[in-house]
Amino acid sequence: MISSADPIAATFEFVPLQECPLCGQPERTPAYQRSYQGLEIRWERCQACRFVFQNPKLSRESLNSIYRSSTYWNVQKMETHNGLRLGYSDYAKGETYRLRQSQWRLRQIRHFVAPGSRWLDVACATGFFVKTLVEAGMEAWGVELSEQMARYGIERYGVNIEARDFDSYTPPGPPLQAISIWGADSNFYDPVATYRHANRMLAADGWLFFNFWDFDHPIRPLLGEFKIGLNGLYQLNRKNIHLLLEKAGFQAELVKMEWSFASLEAILSLTGRFLPLQWLGGLPLASVVFQVPTFSGFLVAARKIRNV
Ligand SMILES: [Zn+2]
Repeated sequence: MISSADPIAATFEFVPLQECPLCGQPERTPAYQRSYQGLEIRWERCQACRFVFQNPKLSRESLNSIYRSSTYWNVQKMETHNGLRLGYSDYAKGETYRLRQSQWRLRQIRHFVAPGSRWLDVACATGFFVKTLVEAGMEAWGVELSEQMARYGIERYGVNIEARDFDSYTPPGPPLQAISIWGADSNFYDPVATYRHANRMLAADGWLFFNFWDFDHPIRPLLGEFKIGLNGLYQLNRKNIHLLLEKAGFQAELVKMEWSFASLEAILSLTGRFLPLQWLGGLPLASVVFQVPTFSGFLVAARKIRNV
């Protein structure tokens, strides 16, 4: 899915895994594989908990180098339009549906958290959810690995974004009441460690909000190459998500199918259907924002139930 003339794969390092990173069991079978710049990259499925994970997986340094490379962000730009737009015009283009998505998400969960609460949005990109939180009266800020995205969001929305890796981030001040993680459900180097890290930042009655895509949902084949990327290190399902939460000291209080705001061109590009995208590219219809059921995408509100 990620392709470029820029041969970054030559510098990648991989870490072999002997057991499932979620449940620790050793039995696994091949799940899928993709080739990237001449490298064969494989994902396996745990026979005990059904977790699907890249193995050998990209080293943490290699993973971060992807996010920091121009290749990654250039591909993002390619995917959002006909392939040749430059600069941040494409992020601005998706702004309408990202903001509406943020407002929809906050409506589902805001009753869990009192106004004025300290709320950290993780992997916040340009900070559109942080902006939504601030407007709803929360004391909110974001962390984002990409300095470019953070800078753009700070300038565009006037919100506070720290350009940092969440895994090594310590928030200032007293414990947080809420942490949200949207659209990063396959992208952490070690999801159990990351969720435990989130637990340790939260107050005793704190909340973790995130979304994930059920890889074993019957509708999954219709999503094509969606989330089958080099940096999609693992795939969750509706069952093993509870194992992840339990290991990190959380309990799900709400698991709800997401409705997604999107444009036709965004859906076609995210699912790797570039040919119809080329046909539709210039038409006004392609950029109309509408709301669709995701069927296999879920929003989770999880309460912290113990310290880890
Ligand atoms: Zn497992």
